[in-house]
Amino acid sequence: MPGATVVPTMIRVGVNGYGTIGKRVADAVAAQPDMELVGVTKTRPNFEADAARRRGYDLYVAVPERTTAFEEAGITTAGTLTDLLDVVDVVVDCCPSGIGAENREIYRAHGVKAIYQGGENATVASASFNARANFEAARGKDHVRVVSCNTTGLSRVIAPLRETYGIEKVRATLVRRGGDPAETGRGPINDVLPDPVTVPSHHGPDVNTIFPNVDVDTLGLTVPATQMHTHSLNVTLESEPSTEAVRDLLRAEDRTFLIPEKAAIDGAGKLKEFARDVGRPRGDLWENCIWEESINVVGRDLYLFQNVHQEADVVPENVDAIRAMCTDRSAAESVVTTNETLGVGLAARPDDANGGREPLVADD
Ligand code: NAD
Repeated sequence: MPGATVVPTMIRVGVNGYGTIGKRVADAVAAQPDMELVGVTKTRPNFEADAARRRGYDLYVAVPERTTAFEEAGITTAGTLTDLLDVVDVVVDCCPSGIGAENREIYRAHGVKAIYQGGENATVASASFNARANFEAARGKDHVRVVSCNTTGLSRVIAPLRETYGIEKVRATLVRRGGDPAETGRGPINDVLPDPVTVPSHHGPDVNTIFPNVDVDTLGLTVPATQMHTHSLNVTLESEPSTEAVRDLLRAEDRTFLIPEKAAIDGAGKLKEFARDVGRPRGDLWENCIWEESINVVGRDLYLFQNVHQEADVVPENVDAIRAMCTDRSAAESVVTTNETLGVGLAARPDDANGGREPLVADD
């Protein structure tokens, strides 16, 4: 029942929009012991519709008028979006930016809880969510927005720094990929764009949906790359920790990966190669990838470089948002379950000195 915190044995989940984020959220939900992936929607009977069927996911037609296109393509469907909404407790909307807001009334009319993505305006939901920073904000809510890949990456660093040292000011320059690898129509092809050209950018206010009282200014650029975003961070702290203390703090976080110097990973290309080498599905990196050598404290000023994999970092956050909305499980319980089922945490870190490395399985 919407509005109530319920503890169903299995949370029934639908994914509306099976694209870059939706396909990953679907796989993550299907891997949870307390969730059932009831089905996913597609607008077109393309290769992704076929892939969903091959994974054994029931396919629903997002736009009813397109049902015949699926029939003509020989792809069996289980119904339309409204049929899916009739049989789920929560829908994860992974539609292109703006369509989630249009879908809100449909979800409300069906009495299902809904999760939206970071491309939607914050006003689409009653809470913006990051598991590390504000899990309880989504507790029992009917409409929750998982913040963008960039805001997720910033939140995972800001939360521990703020709790441990206090924060006077965050300044972040976000060097953003021009498009995802499959987005062949996006650019720039050969340029570096101040984007938005106005300073500070809209990303700071988005961080404030998670941390209302943190003073944060952001600048954005878009570059001809597809694999990851790169963040350059300067955080003025309220105390003067040592560089090593900050490295230890960030290393201890569940969803950060401190890239050791000896790994010889110099950018997104090698990070993604590393992810594929350790068997990550689709080469996904769910963690913030922070260059350990870049973490440096000068007086009260902390500096670091991190990469976030825009296609992947919000995926475990969506799973945790489902539990916050639909169960009474604690943040710690949810995060541990999500991390263990997906394999978040890069246990086989190249800097592990304890000999406890997991055997690697190649993802070919
Ligand atoms: P995408 O274009 O890869 O996927 C969207 C999918 O929704 C496509 O398969 C499209 O066919 C489908 N779709 C279109 N209209 C639909 C409708 N009316 N009903 C159902 N499905 C429909 O987009 P994406 O990158 O997965 O982004 C989805 C959301 O996630 C956006 O809000 C975006 O801002 C956010 N997000 C994207 C990224 C990223 O880098 N890709 C990162 C974090 C958050």
